[in-house]
Amino acid sequence: MEQFNGKSIYNGIAIGRILFYSKNQQQVKRNKVEDVEEEIARFESAKAKAMEQLQELYAKAVEEVGESNAMIFEVHSMMLEDEDYNESIYNIIRNEEVNAEFAVATTGDNFSTMFAEMEDEYFKARAADVKDISERVIAVLTGLEGEAGLGDEPVIVVAEDLAPSETVQMDKSKLLAFVTRLGSSNSHTAILARTMNIPALIGVEISEAWDGKMAIVDGKQGVLFVDPDVATLETYMEKRKREDAQRELLLQLKGQPDVTKDGRHIHLYANIGSVADVANVHANDAAGIGLFRSEFLYLEKDHYPTEEEQFQVYKTVVQNMPGKKVIIRTLDIGADKQVDYFEMEQEENPAMGYRAIRICLDRVEVFKTQLRALYRASAYGMISIMFPMVISVSEVRRIKEICEEVKRELSDSDIPYGDVELGIMIETPAAVMISDLLAKEVDFFSIGTNDLTQYTLAIDRQNPKLDNIYDAHHPAMLRMIQMVIDNGHKENCWVGICGELGADTTLTERFVRMGIDELSVAPSMVLPLRNIIVNMSVD
Ligand code: PEP
Ligand code: MG
Repeated sequence: MEQFNGKSIYNGIAIGRILFYSKNQQQVKRNKVEDVEEEIARFESAKAKAMEQLQELYAKAVEEVGESNAMIFEVHSMMLEDEDYNESIYNIIRNEEVNAEFAVATTGDNFSTMFAEMEDEYFKARAADVKDISERVIAVLTGLEGEAGLGDEPVIVVAEDLAPSETVQMDKSKLLAFVTRLGSSNSHTAILARTMNIPALIGVEISEAWDGKMAIVDGKQGVLFVDPDVATLETYMEKRKREDAQRELLLQLKGQPDVTKDGRHIHLYANIGSVADVANVHANDAAGIGLFRSEFLYLEKDHYPTEEEQFQVYKTVVQNMPGKKVIIRTLDIGADKQVDYFEMEQEENPAMGYRAIRICLDRVEVFKTQLRALYRASAYGMISIMFPMVISVSEVRRIKEICEEVKRELSDSDIPYGDVELGIMIETPAAVMISDLLAKEVDFFSIGTNDLTQYTLAIDRQNPKLDNIYDAHHPAMLRMIQMVIDNGHKENCWVGICGELGADTTLTERFVRMGIDELSVAPSMVLPLRNIIVNMSVD
């Protein structure tokens, strides 16, 4: 047994096998093979499976985004049948006596370089497609197919680092825990781990040789055991049982209102990143959704999600939350959340750069597409919209103008929409300092303590070296929160917290006494917070 220390991102115990996750392109190794015909047969059967997948994708895409957008999967099927492409793979396997994965990867690289060098724009654009189909076949060959390829059994994912776009594509039912060498506790990958309720560690000196080995992740102590001995395994199974029992106790609080002993009602909501998280919201009995990070929808895709695609997602979420508030935040990309198809330029300081509402007010069509989808979905439930990274009153006025335009266009086309509350995130010191003015413009404030801490303390939330001084309890933060609550209340604007600090149980009583109206936290933190609220008095 070996033991490694790391930094805990999220509590809990996971026991299972390790899957060493590396980016697809890096997974292909060149191996000599004895039987080349067997290797060709492996390629043929992987190709058949890839074809099936493409047909399924085509059918799904026709339904969701229409026939013309679905055509790309037809093109991929045709490419996979292409004679030159197939011949190149056979030749490499036979002549070099190598594995099919290597032959497919080499052919994919060669063909895509060849396409990329062509003059004709159509063929140029096929470079990415040929890479894509090759990666699909390789994923089938290596058994790493499916959403970010986790295989059939639930696994502990060990990786050098995980980008939010990779995490969001993983099949959550197959994930027991994350362990990475890089990353910081305030990054979005860490936030996703908390939202998904899975133990996670960062800062662990990982090794590829662990792939397939049994392991235990102790998210509380920040320890990873590789190849645990029987005694350790038994101890942890026992610990896990005790944790489950504590959880059972908390579950008894389900159905209880979030009211203090002396009658103050707090809205206890949950943060989500996808439709799949809604089940967790119900399992933990949150009274609503206080932050739906809509950008994960954009991160999962390799193209701009269409209005229809977005509408379906928002509609599904509200329909699954009947009678409950769902606050959807508009696109908040930039910094650690990079989306290739936005084609953004490299920046010196991305956290302070072209991001969030700044992009939306610059690329108004992208913004309006999302707003149209949101307003259309508002006809099916209680949607509120909130805007990230606001720094000025003029931004809010421009946002409201665009919302009015969208509503007008929908009315002109006889498309129904409901009453929608508008709010802003308070996550820049500028927004705090003018919160008296901003409160006159909107229905609610939601304090984003993750970014507010970063910008107030001038500490990059992504930098693991600064993790120990990234102090969300700093008196500057607590004063700011009080100021925002007071300024909001003077203008009848309710105030919540949706950053990670909202889930800090050492501050819950204090926040309630400060006058907070709402706390929106990872679903698994709802009941621990309720436990505090129902047992406290404000005075
Ligand atoms: C925040 O900054 O506190 C917040 C909730 O937004 P995000 O973590 O997605 O930046
Ligand atoms: Mg933020």
